[in-house]
Amino acid sequence: MDTMQKQEPKLILTNVAEGMIEQYLDAIITKVGCCECARCRMDVKAVALNSFKSQYVVTEPGEAMSKAMLAASQKVADITIAVTKAAMFVKEHPRHR
Ligand SMILES: [Zn+2]
Repeated sequence: MDTMQKQEPKLILTNVAEGMIEQYLDAIITKVGCCECARCRMDVKAVALNSFKSQYVVTEPGEAMSKAMLAASQKVADITIAVTKAAMFVKEHPRHR
């Protein structure tokens, strides 16, 4: 059935900010005292992501994080500030049931 498929390297489309946000998300949510349920966690991520210009990179499996990290390495301060603001916002405006 898959005779038409070629063995091409699997490429991954990664939003640089998303990978960075994911790294700091849980620690900042805890620090800010935001609700840690799945809905609020996702809301914090969405709010934080929306505050950034989308910046995508195409990578192959294995090099995904290193390249993305490299590209975003100067933005750690921006990321943590954005996630902190987002967590504070969601804490005040929780959308969970
Ligand atoms: Zn919640």
